[in-house]
Amino acid sequence: MLADVRERIARACARAGRDPGEVRLVAVTKGHDAEAVRAAVLDHGHRVLGESRVQEWRAKAEALGPDVEWHLVGHLQTNKVRYCRGFALLHGVDSARLVDALEADGARHDHVFPVLLQVNVAGERSKHGVDRAGLADLAARVRDAPHVRLEGLMTMAPYDPDPERARPVFRALRGLAERHADGRTSMGMSGDFEVAIEEGATWIRVGSALFATKPADERGAVEVDG
Ligand SMILES: *Cc1c(COP(=O)(O)O)cnc(C)c1O
Repeated sequence: MLADVRERIARACARAGRDPGEVRLVAVTKGHDAEAVRAAVLDHGHRVLGESRVQEWRAKAEALGPDVEWHLVGHLQTNKVRYCRGFALLHGVDSARLVDALEADGARHDHVFPVLLQVNVAGERSKHGVDRAGLADLAARVRDAPHVRLEGLMTMAPYDPDPERARPVFRALRGLAERHADGRTSMGMSGDFEVAIEEGATWIRVGSALFATKPADERGAVEVDG
């Protein structure tokens, strides 16, 4: 529930000596319909929402109206770039090909895409994200693209029931972000956002902890493929 998540954010900030205003909550709504999102999030005064699938977002954005700040939190495919000008932030940019596609679309429409580069910190094969070795080149590519703006780095920690296991991953991302992106990071989900806050997260992406029910559609929870 939102009140509970806000309370947990405040406590984590207090432990870490951080100002809660530095931590932005992205309420991830994937799998929940517009009605459920309204009841669980918007009606409580929170307007920053995240979606991981472009197709699902388009329907929901229409239903919920213009008063929402939308973030794309999942992986983005090159052929979906043309739908993405409505997002305030793209969290999952991880390849030169994608940066080039965003630059081309941005140039065509006089639009600048704010992006986070997704880093596969743990080197998991199943995960999207640029590896650490490729990050400097990708960041340079973004700096050379006038219609793409680097806002920070993003990662997903390997799934583990013990949130402490995510700490080294978050700490490593923070270190990379200090070098490449002014220290700004999107990290932490329902299971581990408090650890992420302690490690300096500037955006956290929280879904299931906000909703009383499971999403109607649990399939492909992490990937954008539709
Ligand atoms: C679904 C999702 C989240 C939110 O996950 P929860 O565990 O439900 O909080 C965060 N980030 C990404 C990329 C996601 O796909």
